[in-house]
Amino acid sequence: MAIEKKIKREILAILAEVYRDIGPALEYGSPFQLLVATALAAQTTDVQVNKATAGLFRDYPDPQSMAGATPEALIPYIRSLGLYRTKAGNIAALAQMLVADFGGEVPRTREELMGLPGIGRKTANVVLAFAFGIPALAVDTHVFRVSRRMGLANAATPGNVEKQLCLLIPEENWIAAHHWLIWHGRRCCKAQRPDCVICPVKGICPRVGVAPAKTKAMTEPEAATEAIGETIEETIAETKEEV
Ligand code: SF4
Repeated sequence: MAIEKKIKREILAILAEVYRDIGPALEYGSPFQLLVATALAAQTTDVQVNKATAGLFRDYPDPQSMAGATPEALIPYIRSLGLYRTKAGNIAALAQMLVADFGGEVPRTREELMGLPGIGRKTANVVLAFAFGIPALAVDTHVFRVSRRMGLANAATPGNVEKQLCLLIPEENWIAAHHWLIWHGRRCCKAQRPDCVICPVKGICPRVGVAPAKTKAMTEPEAATEAIGETIEETIAETKEEV
């Protein structure tokens, strides 16, 4: 479904207001740790990754220390995560490549990042944006889903959704927009049961592929901001307690 650019901008403006104080959920202390944490986050939750990396980064905080580890030595730290054997092999190999080819530093170009073992475009964009502040808009499963439901993009692949979003959103907002969309997907526009009733954009969202809501529309963004803000605060508190 095609919607007017004015409506798309209105949706983004509301999300920017609702999620203005939200930051990354992964915990890291350096570009290397963000790279590893993001690589470990495939097919698992950020809460699980934070639990695993607490011990992993305590014992292997940088490329030099991790480069000396075998995948078997890393597995006990990340066994709770899906695909842990593959991930252990990838992070050991990428640490070795960083030491051998990049002087122990994380590179700052997408091409170099995507040349590291197990690193795809999404992870490369996350590292560019959040480790180095280089404009990039990472499209993960949440960003892909909510962008299409809200009519901000209609492409069939994450790469093409990224292109559409980057044309729609000013470059200076790419990094923030990733947070708006990802948190909206986690807290409100969930994969199985989107909470359209409390959604701050429900009055203008085309809800592409979503069944109609059964209750009366709530169109005041302020009220929705409050409702979602409470949910976010509860979730952050729960995450801190768990980690
Ligand atoms: S109205 Fe429903 S489908 Fe649209 S963004 Fe909100 S939760 Fe998602």
